[in-house]
Amino acid sequence: MELLKQKILSEGRVIGKDILKVDSFLNHQIDVALFNEIGKEFKRRFFDKKVTKILTIEASGIAIACIAAQYFKVPVVFAKKTESRNLDQETYESEAYSFTKQKTYSIRVSKRYMAKQDHILIIDDFLANGKAAQALIDIVHQAGAALAGVGIVIEKGFQNGGEILRSQNVQVESLAIVKSLEENQILFK
Ligand code: 5GP
Repeated sequence: MELLKQKILSEGRVIGKDILKVDSFLNHQIDVALFNEIGKEFKRRFFDKKVTKILTIEASGIAIACIAAQYFKVPVVFAKKTESRNLDQETYESEAYSFTKQKTYSIRVSKRYMAKQDHILIIDDFLANGKAAQALIDIVHQAGAALAGVGIVIEKGFQNGGEILRSQNVQVESLAIVKSLEENQILFK
């Protein structure tokens, strides 16, 4: 997606060798007009897939998923990272190792909001080693629901998440694939 790539090139900052910081439009401040184009593009890429719900993970996935959901005309469910007395007792749970935070965390979704009749499209901001996506897929499987695919805004192609998911025959659609962040340079595939 050319518009997204241009935005990454003009505003993205490289941290170390493998982290891309895009706080000015994706992870802190939000460019709503760009998100609108991202939502349309996800709809275009998954036009032939039956989708009854979009699943994402808090926090950054929520805004992306909500805007995309307007094109799919389905609800959004977001997996929660924190335990809360507000959350239903009956939940699907999974675990993921966070590459950026360097720790394992649990995610949970109330059983009330996912059923075996559902066709789930997973949407997230980044795909690195695929741990967050794998944990979301695990929850879809626990619910007995069908996985329509995985939509990612930025995939880091030099990490292996995309390869693992595609080898499992998951339709992964990444709107920008970064090939390398070496020497402070952002290169796309
Ligand atoms: P994975 O689970 O695929 O290893 O990592 C994906 C998650 O880690 C994303 O949801 C995102 O929050 C975070 N993440 C991984 N790499 C980056 C990065 O380079 N930049 C940002 N902003 N987040 C990242």
